[in-house]
Amino acid sequence: MKSMYDRFGITEDLKTACNMAEEKIRDEFKNIEDIALNNQAKVLEAMQEFGLSDMHFGTTSGYGYDDVGREIIEKIYAKIFNTEDALVRIQFVNGTHTLSTALFGILRPNDTVLSINGAPYDTLKEVIGIAGTSKSSLKEFGINYAQIDLLENNYNIPAILDYIKNNKVKMVIMQRSKGYEYRKSLYIDDIKEAIEAIRSVDKEVVIMADNCYGEFVEELEPTDVGADLAVGSLIKNIGGGLADMGGYIVGKKEYIELCAERLTCAGIGKECGATLGQNKKILQGLFMAPAVVKNSLKVAILASAILDEMGYDVMPKYNEKRSDIVQAIKFGDKDILIKYIQGIQMGSPVDSNALPIPWAMPGYEDEVIMAAGTFVQGASIELSADSPIRAPYVAYMQGSLTYESGKIAILKAIQNMSK
Ligand SMILES: *Cc1c(COP(=O)(O)O)cnc(C)c1O
Repeated sequence: MKSMYDRFGITEDLKTACNMAEEKIRDEFKNIEDIALNNQAKVLEAMQEFGLSDMHFGTTSGYGYDDVGREIIEKIYAKIFNTEDALVRIQFVNGTHTLSTALFGILRPNDTVLSINGAPYDTLKEVIGIAGTSKSSLKEFGINYAQIDLLENNYNIPAILDYIKNNKVKMVIMQRSKGYEYRKSLYIDDIKEAIEAIRSVDKEVVIMADNCYGEFVEELEPTDVGADLAVGSLIKNIGGGLADMGGYIVGKKEYIELCAERLTCAGIGKECGATLGQNKKILQGLFMAPAVVKNSLKVAILASAILDEMGYDVMPKYNEKRSDIVQAIKFGDKDILIKYIQGIQMGSPVDSNALPIPWAMPGYEDEVIMAAGTFVQGASIELSADSPIRAPYVAYMQGSLTYESGKIAILKAIQNMSK
């Protein structure tokens, strides 16, 4: 029987390094398993409470009226996120579209939206109108934007409160994940503290969390600690690798209605939206998601431990608390970064022969290189790695449906760095 190491050309040295890392990270794995168990219980309980049954796996076409599967999905999501309502739809083309729908749904001309994470995720800059030349940005519709940068990796609460007291702010946006920034992600405790502070000076402002990459990493979600809305993508954590497309918005009923009327149109809202056979995948993916997130986190921790030992700066370190599935690795060298990302592709199940190269991707300012040898195109809950080509050449890696496949791919990638 050939070993995995033989099949993938992993040297004896790297095998030893990997075994040592796995010893070191045992306690972190235990902690992640405990969180996954509680999140699994949350999902299972919601499915049972609403009486999930075979009949919900049916499909609709055309207008999609009375789609019982779609309706139960939205009830289950609302329950899991502890919100009044939810909009979970395959008509969202990606996470950016879902976030954009929420922004356009809530904001009106002359309103101000305040980002308290500094600059938001790259693709949202164009939506807001602080990058690119689109004639369809919020800015074109007369919506103002302001931002307050993080201070030492956390919210600058005095500056936020000062801004809110002195300016009429309609909406505050916060991002849980690091995105393409080399910083720590924001924990639910940080989000809670910021929301409580904001609420002490403004009861009305709509608080929205970009929850991409964050679902099920901790035991609470932003909506458990006061966010009015949370938004994410179904081809990330919460789709569990099975959902083929879509996004979700959870939150207060009145806001969900506004978002639904932006996704569809005034007067139609949530009533339409055919599901084209996706209901079962969305539900089964949700059922799998706590375990898939657990596997992703384990792969991230293993990579973090090995690369840290090799002398690279990693964020977070193997033993640091996490709030998203993203592992950042600072290579400081363009060629090594590219080799690593190409190695991830080589270790993937789909398109393993394709060699990723940097390209100008729509919505991003710098060239980006991406490894995504995934079953669902670009799904970053499957093992994937991407990086804007800019100093200090940081790879952002995330996802893995299984621990075993992720482990093989990262070893392949590390081996490829010296090729
Ligand atoms: C992935 C992501 C988005 C949306 O990206 P899409 O590629 O459009 O799905 C937005 N914000 C964050 C933090 C993300 O990780």
